[in-house]
Amino acid sequence: MALNVIMMGPPGAGKGTQAGRFARDRGLLKISTGDILREGINAQLPIALRAQELMDRGELVDDATMIAIVRERLMRPDAQPGFVLDGFPRTVGQAEALDRIVAERNNGPLIIVDVRVPEHELVRRLAGRLICAKCGANAEPPKAGEAAPTECAKCGGELVQRADDNEQVVLERLKVYDRATKPLVDFYRDRPTFRIVNGAQAQELVAHELETVIDDAALAGKKQAAPASVKARSPEKAASA
Ligand code: AMP
Repeated sequence: MALNVIMMGPPGAGKGTQAGRFARDRGLLKISTGDILREGINAQLPIALRAQELMDRGELVDDATMIAIVRERLMRPDAQPGFVLDGFPRTVGQAEALDRIVAERNNGPLIIVDVRVPEHELVRRLAGRLICAKCGANAEPPKAGEAAPTECAKCGGELVQRADDNEQVVLERLKVYDRATKPLVDFYRDRPTFRIVNGAQAQELVAHELETVIDDAALAGKKQAAPASVKARSPEKAASA
């Protein structure tokens, strides 16, 4: 069964970093819709250039465009062992479309992880965040007592602030998150595969908690998907029979 994970949480919660790390460890495809759009802008693709103005203002790109991008990626062979989605879905419309795509793939349930971080911490993180102008990777935060790096640790590219990480756009992105994306928590909250992670901890601790809750949710998803005859033979059922 595939491991199909979505990482929810506000901008600056560390979803991208954690999604990348988890996907690498488990050999899954990481799909970041923000990265796809930024790569498209660098490559001057019309679909991404049309989205650029909205991105620069911190607003959302339309559902139809985003759903088409994600559907295409999720249907590729390299997404079949599973995926970690970062930045999608961001609206209830996108979440409903994702449910349909997962049902079509028919190889495992959706695991939903909500990464929570208090707002004052998000603003602090986003204002100081640097990314590589060449490969798009997030820069590692400087270690205590050391100066902030100026070059990308992965490819040596120049580190710059993301166009939409300035304070005014950050506040708009957080507002858009509260209005359009937070209602998704209600959409998913009652599923047995919904989990919450404390994103305000040190990166290592977040990574550890994330692994634990995803494995646990995968187990819950498997139980839910098991046909009635298998459920009837499970040890708990047998013991209570
Ligand atoms: P991110 O890197 O995930 O913070 O995304 C950067 C920007 O890309 C967002 O502020 C939106 O303008 C756009 N974007 C990325 N993913 C989506 C999505 N699923 N729906 C709508 N807009 C998106």
